[in-house]
Amino acid sequence: MPSTPSPLTALTPILQEVIARSLAFKDSEDVFARRATPHALRDLLLEDLPEQPATVQAIWEDISKRLLPYCVNMNSPRFMGFGDTGADPASLVAGIFAVLVQQNLINQSFCSPSGTMAEIAVIRWLRDLIGYPTMPACEVESVWEAGGITTYGGTGSNTTAMMLAREHTVPGTLTDGVRDPERFGLVVPRGVGHYSVKSAAAWTGCGTHLIEVDTDHFRYDLTALARAVKENAGRLMAVVAYAGDSRTQTIDHLRAVHDTVRTVDPSVWLHADACWGLMAALTPRRRHLLDGIEAFDSVTVDPHKVLNVPYATSALLVRDPASLRMVSSYSDLIMQEDYAFGQVTPQLGTKEWTSLRAWAALRSQGRQGLTRMMDDRLDRTAAFAMLVDAHPQLMRLHEPDLCAVAFCYLPPGTHPGTATDTQVVRLNEVNRAIHRRLMDEGRWHLHQFTLPDDHGHIRRGAVLAPLRFMSINPRITTTHMRDVLDYVTRLGQEASR
Ligand SMILES: *Cc1c(COP(=O)(O)O)cnc(C)c1O
Repeated sequence: MPSTPSPLTALTPILQEVIARSLAFKDSEDVFARRATPHALRDLLLEDLPEQPATVQAIWEDISKRLLPYCVNMNSPRFMGFGDTGADPASLVAGIFAVLVQQNLINQSFCSPSGTMAEIAVIRWLRDLIGYPTMPACEVESVWEAGGITTYGGTGSNTTAMMLAREHTVPGTLTDGVRDPERFGLVVPRGVGHYSVKSAAAWTGCGTHLIEVDTDHFRYDLTALARAVKENAGRLMAVVAYAGDSRTQTIDHLRAVHDTVRTVDPSVWLHADACWGLMAALTPRRRHLLDGIEAFDSVTVDPHKVLNVPYATSALLVRDPASLRMVSSYSDLIMQEDYAFGQVTPQLGTKEWTSLRAWAALRSQGRQGLTRMMDDRLDRTAAFAMLVDAHPQLMRLHEPDLCAVAFCYLPPGTHPGTATDTQVVRLNEVNRAIHRRLMDEGRWHLHQFTLPDDHGHIRRGAVLAPLRFMSINPRITTTHMRDVLDYVTRLGQEASR
């Protein structure tokens, strides 16, 4: 071992190799190069901290032997469960740069001089896409005028949204603590929500006082919503609507939800979870589906889910930028300056410059590139939906608003629309068996979850265990779509025997 560290520039050749191998990994069609059980991987990797130092070369060899072969490649066109490709070229370049230069977004002046401004630019671009106003750049004098924060994920963004709702409902809870948890009821659509919203309420000390409202076609039943808001008057902190739920990506009727809630309760906090819905903002073909979102008090968006940027970048946008003052922190240790994001990012101190990945992706695509990207996705969604519809043994469960298509394999003897309990149980067994085989074999990836049959394709109200395709990855071709459906059908036939 050398006694004095070599200059970091000496790492250039090995970094070139790391980059080349990693890019080749992403370019591969394979979802997995090798599969092993969790126990086998545990036995391979849980070891004592070595006594002896090792060279950088040895570490890289170890990574390529023991870690890389088991990594999942979400950029594979056969990985169709999610769209987390992390393969936008500009964001890969920017992401590597940001890791190397190590800025800390907690503060501006000495931690992240240019990084903070680039982060504010991203927040403003996202606001603009969603339809929130931005103030002239020359008037942005502090983080209180940025209009949002970036976090490490939709979960973090939703958590800050619930803190805002809590403070808005009972001002001073931040200092006094929660005194009457019953005061913090949370209205959500039944059966289609994301767990993070409920967890966020719990994490912020509000308990889980969920008021689940019935849905119709995966959107709020507005009559039931009005009733729930009225019946719980004085006990509500927020109403949450999904602009793209995490199952079928259905976008709620946001304007109608807003108007329905506001008519009954003019002040309850309205939060839109647009982790997926941001995609609708990218193209005129879907932009209208977001009408009304600009009237919500806060909006979560997840660039790492929808812009092909590497993990982890999410943002919470707030209609009134100053509302972030409700949850701000103050410290004379580090953040005593106007542009210190640490003041407005609850639960986060040191913060990596992940927003640069979104900055680079948005900047390199431009509005035209984003529209083209999204229109291609919509075309792939439509093509997949047509293939499912043309197949007598497959049933599509919704009209796709965005990139998700949830569908199920119909075991022989299923009566779609009027399936009996026994048939529903059988259908779910077979679709779960299909998914288990998919996971075990690791050649293809589709997602699975439970879903209320809100359109009544199998039987209205039945809880189904469908498969889900997502069209985000531009590498997915019609051939991939045909092949995965052939494969699913074959597994379905085998599982139905
Ligand atoms: C994925 C998702 C989240 C959570 O986002 P993470 O980035 O995984 O933390 C929240 N809401 C919805 C609707 C989601 O789909």
